[in-house]
Amino acid sequence: MRIVSGADDVCAACPHLDKGECRRFGPKAGEIDDRLNRQLGLAAGDIEPWSVLVGIVRDVIAPESMFEYCGHCSWSNLNYCTDGIAALRTDGATDDPARASR
Ligand code: SF4
Repeated sequence: MRIVSGADDVCAACPHLDKGECRRFGPKAGEIDDRLNRQLGLAAGDIEPWSVLVGIVRDVIAPESMFEYCGHCSWSNLNYCTDGIAALRTDGATDDPARASR
């Protein structure tokens, strides 16, 4: 996977994506990515296997600190990310779920 800053493949179906730019958060989307990437020791353009990236997130980001990075996110209240990181720390799995289902 290649690390990017700003709108990415995950944004492909988002109605706020317009000509490759996030029209909801504007440049702030990239600023948030850059801040998180620095915390993870990564930078835009880095290429790493999924398992390595998941392992870095698991080891660096404490579930309870997600709000400090992503507090603005409208999905925060659903706790997908906090629960996901907590589960990673419990079972340690770093397999790519998309690859496992192919
Ligand atoms: S709001 Fe912006 S950053 Fe979030 S998914 Fe949509 S395009 Fe991507």
